[in-house]
Formats: sequence, C-alpha cells, structure tokens
Amino acid sequence: MSSIIRIYNSSEINSRTFDGFSTTLRKVFSVPVSIANVSLNLEDAYDNGREQYNSTALLAKLLNTFDTSNNKSIIVVDVDLYIPVLTFVFGEAQLDGSAAVVSTHRLKNQYYGLPKDDTLMEVRLEKEIVHELGHTFGMYHCQDYECVMKSSTYVEEIDLKKTVPCRACQQILDENIGKKSRIE
Ligand SMILES: [Zn+2]
Ligand SMILES: [Zn+2]
Repeated sequence: MSSIIRIYNSSEINSRTFDGFSTTLRKVFSVPVSIANVSLNLEDAYDNGREQYNSTALLAKLLNTFDTSNNKSIIVVDVDLYIPVLTFVFGEAQLDGSAAVVSTHRLKNQYYGLPKDDTLMEVRLEKEIVHELGHTFGMYHCQDYECVMKSSTYVEEIDLKKTVPCRACQQILDENIGKKSRIE
C-alpha cells in the first residue's frame, strides 16, 4: 500500500505550518509525512476567461513534475481553482489515486471581506488537506456534517467539520490503508 504522504507547498504559507498538520495526517492515515517547498509554474492551468486555474490541469502538472509512485502527493497553492462544471473548488483529488491539490484562496477571511485570521485559515487548510488526501485513499463523501469527508460548498461548512473523519469513515479508511490487517 501507499507508503508516504508528500506535501508540496507552492503557496505563501510558512512550511512550519505543515509540521503542525503532520500530527493529524499521521494519526488519520498512519503513514509518514514529508513536506517540501516548491515553486511551480501554474500558468498552463490558467484560464483567461474565468481568471481562475483549472485544478485538474494542476493535478496533471503535479503528476508530471514529481515522482508520485507509491505515495500520495498533495500540492498547496494560493490561486483560485475551478473545474469546468463548478464555479470554484477548494481542492480536487484523484479518487484512489496519488495526486491532490488544495488552495488557500477561498479559505482566507479576506476573500469574504472579513478581517484576516491566519489561524482560522490554517485550520480550514488542514481540514481540506485531510479531505482531499482522504479521496486519494479511496474515501467518498460522507453525509455527517462534522466529518472531514463531508463535501463543502461554502467555507462555513468547512468550519463545521472536524479535522478528522467520523468513526465510520475512519474505519473504512483503516481498511483501505490496510491498517486492520497490520494490527491483526
Ligand atoms: Zn471531496
Ligand atoms: Zn464520515
């Protein structure tokens, strides 16, 4: 099974922030976490008409740029993401695949005309990272509004979620990552 989570930070966030996330990620996914600052040229993913970045193109870029074999890789960016059928997305991931992307853009209070709150933004980012990585570990959306695998359309819905999966999702996840068989 997958051996490591790799976080590629291509955002303005201090990489120390991700050290804090590692504890949660190791607890939820039971695999080691590595963090690297990268500077990725995102221009191929830019859509002039929408003035946004195609998240699926960014996943392709991630897969083409880094060795994603035998790991789950997530890239963190600051730009506004979209997929063609939606106005925007907070992130995107390959279901049961190896690549994910998440953006801080709409996680920032300033985007909504509210005072800057870095701590809140980081909590939201941690949840979205866990959520998108959950998809790469084969997790589907959950209806429990407190579960990290609940799909969020609005940032307020992210704020309602916990940073970890509900019990049922964690159980599925543990089976997906083969934790159960390791314990037995
Ligand atoms: Zn999702
Ligand atoms: Zn759940």
